[in-house]
Formats: sequence, C-alpha cells, structure tokens
Amino acid sequence: MNKVHLGNTGIYVNKNGFGALPIQRITREEAKSLLLKAYDNGVDFFDTARMYSDSEEKIGYALEGFRQNIYIATKTTARDTESFWTDLKQSLESLKTGYVDLYQFHNPSFCPKPGDGTGLYEAMVEAKEKGLIRHIGITNHRLHLAFEAVESGLYEVLQFPFSYLANDEEKKLVNLCKNRQVGFIAMKALSGGLITNAKAAYAFVNQFDNVLPIWGIQKESELDEFISYHHDEPGMKDDIMALIDKDLKELSGEFCRGCGYCLPCPVNIDIPTSARMGLMLRRAPSSNFMTDEWKEKMNRVEDCIECGHCKDNCPYDLDTPKLLRENLQVYKTYL
Ligand code: SF4
Ligand code: SF4
Repeated sequence: MNKVHLGNTGIYVNKNGFGALPIQRITREEAKSLLLKAYDNGVDFFDTARMYSDSEEKIGYALEGFRQNIYIATKTTARDTESFWTDLKQSLESLKTGYVDLYQFHNPSFCPKPGDGTGLYEAMVEAKEKGLIRHIGITNHRLHLAFEAVESGLYEVLQFPFSYLANDEEKKLVNLCKNRQVGFIAMKALSGGLITNAKAAYAFVNQFDNVLPIWGIQKESELDEFISYHHDEPGMKDDIMALIDKDLKELSGEFCRGCGYCLPCPVNIDIPTSARMGLMLRRAPSSNFMTDEWKEKMNRVEDCIECGHCKDNCPYDLDTPKLLRENLQVYKTYL
C-alpha cells in the first residue's frame, strides 16, 4: 500500500484520502457503512469541513471507536475569532473527538497572518497550544494565495486543487511544498467530475510523492475502485498517457471547475453545472441532462440579472455570465 508523508507534520498515511463532502448526500447508515469499509481497507485520512452540513457528524458516528487509528482534517470558514471558536467547538462535538489532526482555514480570500488584525492566525496557535488541533492548514483555489501561504512559513499543510489538468505553475506549487516540507493535499483530483477515468487521475497524482489526494466518495463502487489500487496500483502506462493527452487538448483553456465559490446566485442558477454543461454533455451520457429538471435549470440562465456576484467570486477569474450564456446555447443545440 502506497503511503505519503504530509510535510513535516509526522502524519504518514495511505495515499488514498477520503474526501467527505459527498457523504452529506447519503443517509447516516449508508455513510457509516462506507466510512467503515474505507477504514477496514486501510484508508486512514478523512477530510471534512464545518460547512459540509452533517459530514462531520457522520464521521463521528461511524468512526468514534477508531479515533486513535485515523487522522481527521476539518475546516472553518470563520472570518473572525468568535466564529472560529464556535466552529471549532461544533466540529469537535460533531466529530466526537477531543482534537482534530489538521484544522484548515477554508478557502479564505486572504492569507491569515499574525498581526493582520483579524486574530484568526493567533486563534489557530492558541487552539494548537490547548491541544484542540494538532496542525495548522489552509485550503484555497487561488494560486497566488496558495503561494503566499506556503512562502509565509505559517502553514504546515496546503490543500489545493490538483489533477492532470494542472498547469506548470500548479506543478511548481507542489514542488515548492515539497522543498519547504509543507504537506500538500490534492482536492478535485477528478476536477469536479470532468475527469471520468479514476485510474488516470490516480496514476498522475501518484507521480508526486508529497501529494495526498482526497477522493470525494459517495458510492461503494467509487470506494471499491480506489481500494483496488492498494494492490494494483495504476501507473503512467501508454494507454493512460494517451487518455491524459486527449483530455488536456479537450479541456485546455478557460473552463468552469465546478467549485461553487460563485454561489449563491440571486436568481438561483445552478452555476457549477450550468457553466460547464457543454463539457458535461460531451463527457458524460448526455441523456442525464435532457430531463425536464435540467431543461428548467438551464432555462434559468436567461434570468441572469448580471449582478456580477459570480464573476467577482470566481477564483479562476472566469467571465461566468458569458460562460453561462455560451453553455446555454450548446445545451439548446443538443436539445
Ligand atoms: S451575474 Fe447572473 S449568474 Fe452570476 S450571480 Fe448574478 S444573476 Fe447569478
Ligand atoms: S464559475 Fe468559477 S466559481 Fe463558479 S463553479 Fe465555475 S470555477 Fe467555480
């Protein structure tokens, strides 16, 4: 079984981390059985967040008895110290634990630092001194902020989107983390559903010995796929390299990653899927999106009031309203 060191935290875990965002969408018992199956098969790193509704609670419910054998990472979107402590208290309660192994600032729009006036970084240090958290981390979707966090020397772990669609700068970031001994957790290694070949996704990240991918898992079949790699590790063979090359050509340039940071939309447009509908239609069975429900959702794009909220909050600097209009046109063509 392939393992990875998370920077210099001393955390040394199975290369398949469990991303617990999708377990929000399944029942408590289904989540328990999935989490226990992952644990029984050697998965020992679980990443969740306060904002993933009942995800923390389901982890606490399923894995309380195995707490000492696993690592738990969670996140706070707090932007002031009062919410920081409220979030941390709630996370500990939900997870049924006295500490979290890694506590991360969840995609902040700035890099919290000591003396910046927010008190957030100082709160992290205090939580660590009190033994409530073991390590300090930050997650982000903005490249410049990720570099700033790593270069600051203040963070032990960075969580950032990383897949075979990564550009040279993103690969540079991974190497910087390695040189600085900052742990690197790869989120969205399937690029929010655009990468449909899990073997290729795994084979790519597996080339980076300092990267811990966390796979968003909702179904047992998805878990089984990743567990199978413990014994039969996919490598960068010719067929996988050809597939990656093809995807790189198809997915180059500006495209929506489905991260959802542009939400909420005041007229309730489902931006993360609507803004990449053309790609989804080409890469998934198009019949999935030809339903009355999707026709209605796509038609909502015409209600856009150009408020600019999505554009201002997109970490990839996309012109989201324009992208939505273009994708609506593609959708109509398919219809
Ligand atoms: S610009 Fe349009 S799509 Fe974007 S948030 Fe505003 S209404 Fe929604
Ligand atoms: S438009 Fe931007 S912020 Fe919204 S889902 Fe796509 S990539 Fe994320």
